[in-house]
Amino acid sequence: MRRGAQPPPRGRALEEVNFAKKILLVGDGAVGKTSLVRRFVHDLFSDRYIVTIGTKTSRKALKLEYDAEDLSVNLQLGIWDILGQKEGARAHELYFKGADGAILVCDLTRPETLASVPEWSKRVEALCGKLPAVLVANKQDAKDERKVGDEEVAEVAKGLGVSWFQASAKTGLNVEAFFHEVGSLLCASLVVKHIEAREAAAAGQGSKKGLGRRAGRSKP
Ligand code: GDP
Ligand code: MG
Repeated sequence: MRRGAQPPPRGRALEEVNFAKKILLVGDGAVGKTSLVRRFVHDLFSDRYIVTIGTKTSRKALKLEYDAEDLSVNLQLGIWDILGQKEGARAHELYFKGADGAILVCDLTRPETLASVPEWSKRVEALCGKLPAVLVANKQDAKDERKVGDEEVAEVAKGLGVSWFQASAKTGLNVEAFFHEVGSLLCASLVVKHIEAREAAAAGQGSKKGLGRRAGRSKP
C-alpha cells in the first residue's frame, strides 16, 4: 500500500495551522544570548534582524508535526534578545510585555550566571506571569574553563520546574533542540484546543466536515 495514495482515515486530512508566539532570552551579560539567537536564526535561513535600542528581535518559523493528530503547526517565533544586565529593569517591562515563553541562559564557565537564573525567572514571572521556559547552560564547548557541573544546573532547573540543556552557540550543540522544546511547550495547549474544536465540529457536522477551519491565533 502506497502511503498518500489512500484517503486519510475517518475523513481526516493533514491539516496545517499557524501560530505566532513571542519568546524572550534572558540571562546575565555575555552568557551568549545574542550568539545563540544568531546561531539558530542563521542556520536555517530567516535571518531578519531588526535592531532597536536595547533589544534585538528576530523571527523564525518552526514546523512542528503532530503525526497522530494529522496536524502540522507552523509556529512563527518572535525572538526577543534582551540587551544589557539586570540594572536595565525599567526597559525590561516594555519588551517582556506579551511574551509567551522564556529561555533562561547561563554560562558554564561562570557560576554566578547560574546563580542569577532564578532572579531572571522571577523577573519574567513578575511581568508576564508564569511562562513555559527552558534553562540553557551555554558554552559547553569551553571545556577547559568549565566551572559549573551538570548537577548544579539540574538543581536550579528542578527548582524552577523547567527542563535544561547544555548548549553551545559556537558548535551549535542543542541549539535547535532547545528552541524546539520551547516551541512545543508553547503550542501544547493550543494544539489540544484546536483538536478539541476540530473533533467537536466533526461530531456536530458529520465526520467529513469542519476540518478546514482555523483555530488558535494566526499572525500578529
Ligand atoms: P550576550 O551578552 O548574552 O548576548 O552574549 P554574547 O552572545 O554577546 O556572547 C558573549 C561572549 O561569549 C562573546 O565573546 C561570544 O563570542 C562568547 N560566546 C557566546 N556563546 C559561546 C559559546 O557557546 N562558546 C564559547 N566558547 N563562547 C561563546
Ligand atoms: Mg547580547
